[in-house]
Amino acid sequence: MNDLRELYQQVILDHNRNPRNYRELPGATKRVEGYNPLCGDHYTVFVDLDGDVIKEITFTGNGCAISKSSASVMTTTVKGKRTEDAERLFEIFHKLVTGEPAGLSEAELGRLAAFSGVSEFPARVKCATLAWHTLHSALQDEQEVVTTE
Ligand code: ZN
Repeated sequence: MNDLRELYQQVILDHNRNPRNYRELPGATKRVEGYNPLCGDHYTVFVDLDGDVIKEITFTGNGCAISKSSASVMTTTVKGKRTEDAERLFEIFHKLVTGEPAGLSEAELGRLAAFSGVSEFPARVKCATLAWHTLHSALQDEQEVVTTE
């Protein structure tokens, strides 16, 4: 278990230090900002849809290590997926970080499993889910600015 915990921290540290898809996406079909005022996390998520497939997804912005690594892992996880599958992954991820049974094995969760430890720190749940909430809003056409408060 300690080894796993260490591995998860490596994933989070790696994606925080070297976030994937961390750039603007000119011509994106969706562009939504997300704020978490409690922590000061602030990101913009860019999504380029091809029908109902997430053809490209990038993000910019800054915040704590949990929020930035979560945004980075999210982009690598949902890129190329259908929007309904991305929404389903958000539900699973939300369960994972709030300590509910996610219904998937660790192998199926892949890098998302790195965030299971967040469930022990309720104040950090908003950090971990900010990018996902922002993506959800982008896919639902709800609003252009999302705040966790
Ligand atoms: Zn944060």
